[in-house]
Amino acid sequence: MKIVRGIGELQLSGEIGLVPTMGALHDGHVALLRAARTENELVVASLFVNPAQFDEQADLAAYPRDEERDAAIAAAAGVDVLFAPSAEELYPAGFATWVDPGEAGGEGASRPGHFRGVATVCLKLFNIVRPRRAYFGQKDAQQAAVIRRLVRDLNLDVAIRVVPIVRDADGLALSSRNGRLSAEERAQALALPRALAEGASAADPVAATRAALNGLAPDYVELVEIGGATVLAAAVRVGSTRLIDNVLLKGELS
Ligand code: AMP
Repeated sequence: MKIVRGIGELQLSGEIGLVPTMGALHDGHVALLRAARTENELVVASLFVNPAQFDEQADLAAYPRDEERDAAIAAAAGVDVLFAPSAEELYPAGFATWVDPGEAGGEGASRPGHFRGVATVCLKLFNIVRPRRAYFGQKDAQQAAVIRRLVRDLNLDVAIRVVPIVRDADGLALSSRNGRLSAEERAQALALPRALAEGASAADPVAATRAALNGLAPDYVELVEIGGATVLAAAVRVGSTRLIDNVLLKGELS
């Protein structure tokens, strides 16, 4: 696996699968990398903690970073090229052009500017890497919806694949932020996947999820459309950690 930092050093050819990540790789990321490996000649993973998508400076400062570990995981998952640019490489002095992705549900409302940062960096990565396919996790359902709309609205020539959520044995969706939870907070956090599972089989999924959150205060509980599928999504805060999760209600992710 080659590690590349400069845009000019990326010499790519063949049918490319791109997996954008912010590092701190876990089995959720690995599921995306494996999906990319099965359908593309060349797999490129990006490793970039995108400052533009953090609405809280403390969250950006606390974001886990371990490039050596990430590189080992990416290589073992069959990545050919790890693109790990600096912030200056992607946002050089004078950078001023942003993608405004429009309305983005409860997640967008809770995190002002977040999806502008996500849409902008994804469009840049699509233009830099020129992938045939790009892989995103169902875990970030609203993100997947925003990227699908970006591709449609701006006529981008890339297929978007959405990969199902990978969970720990106790049901908590894997997340780079789970490491910040104390043992007690982690036990509380399990109310989120449990409430969503209960909501999914109820007549009023949103109300049933809210009722089953066991005291966790949600930022939102809502239905999100991704392509032809509908998911039931929620965000909660457990201590100072914000967690998101969702379950598929209707249709199929692809
Ligand atoms: P991140 O590094 O958090 O920006 O995530 C990179 C990609 O991995 C995004 O498309 C996420 O939706 C996806 N992802 C993160 N956690 C999971 C998970 N538990 N299962 C599946 N995909 C995930």
